Amino acid sequence: MKQLNYDVVVIGGGPAGMAAALKAKDKGATVAIIERNDELGGILNQCIHSGFGLSYFKQELTGPEYAELFINQVAAADIDVFLKTMVIDLSPARQVKAMNDEGMLLFNAGAIVLAMGCRERTRGAIKIPGSRPAGVLTAGLAQRYVNIENRKPGERIVILGSGDIGLIMARRLTLEGMQVLGVYELMPYANGLYRNIKNCLDDFEIPLHLSTTVTKIIGHPHLKAIEVAKVDENFNVIEATREVIPCDTLLLSIGLIPENELSQKSGVSLNPRTNGPLVNEDLETDQPGIFACGNVLHVHDLVDNVTLEAEQAGAAAAAYVLKQTNRQSTNEARPVEARTTLSLSPGENVSYTVPAKLTVPLQHAARILFRVNKPLDQAEVVIQAGTKILYQGKPHAFKPSVMEMVALNPEEMIHLSYTKQPITVAVQAVNG
Ligand SMILES: Cc1cc2nc3c(=O)[nH]c(=O)nc-3n(C[C@H](O)[C@H](O)[C@H](O)COP(=O)(O)OP(=O)(O)OC[C@H]3O[C@@H](n4cnc5c(N)ncnc54)[C@H](O)[C@@H]3O)c2cc1C
Repeated sequence: MKQLNYDVVVIGGGPAGMAAALKAKDKGATVAIIERNDELGGILNQCIHSGFGLSYFKQELTGPEYAELFINQVAAADIDVFLKTMVIDLSPARQVKAMNDEGMLLFNAGAIVLAMGCRERTRGAIKIPGSRPAGVLTAGLAQRYVNIENRKPGERIVILGSGDIGLIMARRLTLEGMQVLGVYELMPYANGLYRNIKNCLDDFEIPLHLSTTVTKIIGHPHLKAIEVAKVDENFNVIEATREVIPCDTLLLSIGLIPENELSQKSGVSLNPRTNGPLVNEDLETDQPGIFACGNVLHVHDLVDNVTLEAEQAGAAAAAYVLKQTNRQSTNEARPVEARTTLSLSPGENVSYTVPAKLTVPLQHAARILFRVNKPLDQAEVVIQAGTKILYQGKPHAFKPSVMEMVALNPEEMIHLSYTKQPITVAVQAVNG
């Protein structure tokens, strides 16, 4: 088997992988990107709508345009890119096994950045009863058919789930001449960004049915209709509201799952709340020298946030490996670090936090990302360790579709190294 040695090996060449690789290279590491597709760019290549880069580049780009800006930088940097190369195994000793047309490759890595993205939840995940016909597919697959393969998924379309991919596809299929009959959402609120509800549904008069779900799939071998019904506050179907809607295509936009089978092979522990790796403030997993970023870590709605997070992971991976190399070359014993790991967990109204632990004293400001689990009109972020409040934010409205970020400064955390107090992140409603 051919062996290759790099300071940093990045698995996945989407926006996360490219930004991590560029930052690691910038910090002085030798870097390889391994990507199974025949081009870099990841999911961005099929997202031909605009709306990317508003905060990172301060301009509105399409997905392929955003990807191209990074692909050009990777090409100009001295980064080795392995396309059409699939990573199939990963060990805690940071050996990456991959295969391509040339056969098997073994990468020995000083540090690894996991950037494999996520995949879509399918019908099986929510167990919709009924037949198993053609015509039921995920929204991302339909996006690939229409935007890359120039294929038409159907004529009369129903979309289940109001996440951003479903909303974007409602508009896209309408523009391509298909009839989108409606978007059905189990929750009493929409899951996508407000701008996508407005631009993709309201502007095209596509109805959004909240607290409603698909209760049956009808037809074989091709989809003929679906049955929908309203649900009560406990998500139980309200029998009298069952209704059959004739259609030939059902698109599922019911969530994404981080692509973590490989991560688990390396022994990385996963956070049950995100299904991504459990990481600290440097985005390092509990396997030393293995870092994670982008959708494999937690699902992002905005690629700009993916890029920022990946730059952090790339810099930390390079720092990890270069620190190890310096120690070996000076024969220096590993210094005893008087640092304590504190857990960081979601409190009231918060569904998850990334990171899920902090190592104090902090060496730099820590970015804490989180989402609320329900919409709140007026609320504020409260981060506390025991009774000590570390951060209290300005009241504003919160939505589960919007990822929130708070930076904690090392000064605010310094006294915590001795107390071992777990930290909670809560979003508390404010009256008036
Ligand atoms: C339909 C849709 C619409 C969106 N709209 C917007 C928008 O309007 N604005 C915005 O800012 N953001 C938007 N986003 C979000 C943004 O595009 C994503 O969050 C971002 O692309 C995730 O980047 P990533 O690098 O983590 O994952 P990906 O882009 O999925 O890249 C992961 C890469 O890893 C590779 N890979 C996986 N496993 C392996 C393996 N074993 N071996 C080798 N390679 C592997 C994959 O092939 C892939 O190329 C949208 C996303 C989608 C899906």
